[in-house]
Amino acid sequence: MDKLDPERRSQNMARVHGKNTEPEMRVRRIAHRIGLRFRLHRADLPGRPDLVFPRYRLAVFVHGCFWHRHTDCSRASMPATRREFWKAKFEANVARDRTQQAALLALGWTVLVLWECELKDESSIEKRLRAAIDRLCPSN
Ligand SMILES: [Zn+2]
Repeated sequence: MDKLDPERRSQNMARVHGKNTEPEMRVRRIAHRIGLRFRLHRADLPGRPDLVFPRYRLAVFVHGCFWHRHTDCSRASMPATRREFWKAKFEANVARDRTQQAALLALGWTVLVLWECELKDESSIEKRLRAAIDRLCPSN
């Protein structure tokens, strides 16, 4: 299914900032429990979604609250120094996320964003993943 051999795949993933993080591993465990086939970091899709359920055209992003600016989340604090730098960086991150998600939607994908702070509750994440999949029809 996955066209890259394991060695190249791990090199690819190591290059990408923040991949294979603990929050991501949690979501993978949950996805395994659900028992549906998924793929990781598909490079041919906008934003390289962290998980993809190809049969349902469902793309899942596991976002760190700080870097991706989770609204009203205490983890999305603003550093006390170099505020202009951080502000510009955060705005660019958020704009990139928005662009990538819009591109996925335009390609007929459904996008689900899971925030790092929500992953403490694995059963609720499992419910949300199942609900998203239940709403979608298998594409073949
Ligand atoms: Zn958060």
